[in-house]
Amino acid sequence: MRPLRIALQRKGRLAEDSLRLLSEAGIAIPAAGERLRVPALNYPMEAYLLRDDDIPAYVADGVVDLGIVGENVVHESEKDIQIVRRLGFGRCRLALAVPRESPIQTLDDIQGKRVATGYPRLTQRYFAEAGISVKIHTLHGSTEIAPSLGLAEGIVDIVATGSTLLLHGLREVCTFLHSEAVLIQRPHIELPIEDFLFRIDAVLAARQQKYILFNLPESALPAAVRLLPGLKSPTVMPLAEKGWISVHTVVEEGRFWEVAQQLQSIGAQGILVMHIEKLIR
Ligand code: ATP
Ligand code: MG
Repeated sequence: MRPLRIALQRKGRLAEDSLRLLSEAGIAIPAAGERLRVPALNYPMEAYLLRDDDIPAYVADGVVDLGIVGENVVHESEKDIQIVRRLGFGRCRLALAVPRESPIQTLDDIQGKRVATGYPRLTQRYFAEAGISVKIHTLHGSTEIAPSLGLAEGIVDIVATGSTLLLHGLREVCTFLHSEAVLIQRPHIELPIEDFLFRIDAVLAARQQKYILFNLPESALPAAVRLLPGLKSPTVMPLAEKGWISVHTVVEEGRFWEVAQQLQSIGAQGILVMHIEKLIR
């Protein structure tokens, strides 16, 4: 069987997290150096290390089987692409921003103005859908300086924390798209990726869960079970001290703080939280 070919960003915001995902799935990609194509050390896979903008085309043309890239880049490419999995890293949004002191307050106010962006097709599409006409200036980097250079009244750019906007004296007006890294393939083709997805899913599931254990008065167990929508039902073990038990279970990362406080209020003590490496449902 020929190795699966996967395109990854060579250098940039998704590069490290993409390799980490593969590594946690037991797939080791050695340092690429100058190479474009790097075989995995322990899995039938070949990584193609590319500029992220090129990844959708490589996938759409069938040069590679899979790719990991920002959803924003997929949409900007306008290629026929299927999103196989959302990967939970590289989260950001595509937003319209203007100088802090600009009179522009809403999307409508940008009508007839100039907008600089590295995402001309997405920008074009969003403004067209909103029924607003703007003049789009395509830039290939440092979009945020365009307003201060007098090149545009606004920018449409990727924002993660908003600190870059703040640094350049810009303010967000509205958001067009939420994005994260995605695993992509060409639509309507059968790829032999069952084993690969089994591994990826185990890593993604584990990232969303925490393993917790705590001590509890035995009488509080029914209340604890109601609070804990674990995998099946919690593991309960007796403590050496009579009337006390140790409860082990898995909790969704997003609910952890809420659950921990509720557990404490019903008498839980010594709540330990642990990282889960893999989770196979
Ligand atoms: P390349 O050299 O591969 O073309 P790039 O400069 O176009 O890289 P990066 O800045 O590395 O791209 O960003 C890659 C992707 O990371 C973006 O397309 C976006 O999906 C995501 N991302 C997450 N947070 C941010 C952020 N704060 N700024 C820009 N992109 C971000
Ligand atoms: Mg790029």
